[in-house]
Amino acid sequence: MPEKVLQGVVGEDAVIDRMALTFIFNRLRERGYTVYGTVNEKGTGLFRPLGDLSDLSLRCTGGTLPPKHIWYKPFETLFAYDRVRNHFKADVPPVKQAVFGIRPCDVHALLALDEVFLGGGYPDPYYWARRVELVLVVFNCVEAGDTCFCSSMGTGPGLGHDYDLLFTELLRKDGASGRERYLIEIGSSAGGELVQGLKGEEAKQEDHQEKRRRLTGAGQGNRFTLETDRLPRLMQEGYKHPYWEEITNKCFACANCTSVCPTCYCADIFDETDFNLRETRRKRRWSWCFLVEFAAVHGGNYREKHIDRLRQFMQHKLNFSIGQHGFFHCVGCGRCIVWCPANIDIAQTGRVIRGDA
Ligand code: SF4
Ligand code: SF4
Repeated sequence: MPEKVLQGVVGEDAVIDRMALTFIFNRLRERGYTVYGTVNEKGTGLFRPLGDLSDLSLRCTGGTLPPKHIWYKPFETLFAYDRVRNHFKADVPPVKQAVFGIRPCDVHALLALDEVFLGGGYPDPYYWARRVELVLVVFNCVEAGDTCFCSSMGTGPGLGHDYDLLFTELLRKDGASGRERYLIEIGSSAGGELVQGLKGEEAKQEDHQEKRRRLTGAGQGNRFTLETDRLPRLMQEGYKHPYWEEITNKCFACANCTSVCPTCYCADIFDETDFNLRETRRKRRWSWCFLVEFAAVHGGNYREKHIDRLRQFMQHKLNFSIGQHGFFHCVGCGRCIVWCPANIDIAQTGRVIRGDA
């Protein structure tokens, strides 16, 4: 095999083995990045800071919790005010973070949150501080998870943009050693800098053909499907469909679905004051439209009924988000299906409402 030394140019590719992952991981650490990756904890993949690359599990799909907490903290202090010194404290320095092994659907979810937090006239400085230097080492999915429907939503199993480095596992192992082989593609100058000097092999046409074959196979492996043609209009027309009542009767209103969704972004903001009334901190924590208190306002609650909260969650993902942002806020990751104790399934709901099931 002709050897290749990567120059770090955007668009460059090569075939590498697993040792190269260690090279990239170490370079990220040398550059001061906190490197997150999926760690298998009792069968659930959780994105944790990696102390060592051997902790990384690339086999976690479906049941994995999303990496959203890396760029959007579940709980954070926005600023503090010291009454005695008449002083505001609001430090939001950029942080260097990298995600190793993020999947295409989660990159699409990140782009959806970018639109929410950075897309309007008032960019969120807290989100920006964690996003601006974020490095994405993406792994295309060569196997479908049990509940994924990314190919229906156009968010996977492969990614064609917005990555720093992109990996696709190749089926053919290295003949001599049986080592794993990956096609690596450079998507940004930050990604290029990380692999400059890395040794691999020239990527051939057959390696790209194999990538396409594996992605097609993974897409066909999606057992869940949802036709999205005219979906927002059909969801709107199906607003009073009897199926909403049927699934509400099964639903526990536990909010698991919204808490594991990589695109849910709602939050509650509140002030916390010291007992001596000296310092007050303004805090933000995730909240969800499924909670009855979420819609409590002075004088009443505009979404008190259980059916309205369930419908709001799914209508927002498959209908309202199109009007708000121009794309679905469901990336087909299937996590809400995995974590629902009542077996309620957003893809099935979409199919019933549009008359396909
Ligand atoms: S609604 Fe469900 S399937 Fe869609 S992105 Fe959220 S968790 Fe994933
Ligand atoms: S996870 Fe299932 S049971 Fe819980 S609120 Fe969501 S739809 Fe209802």
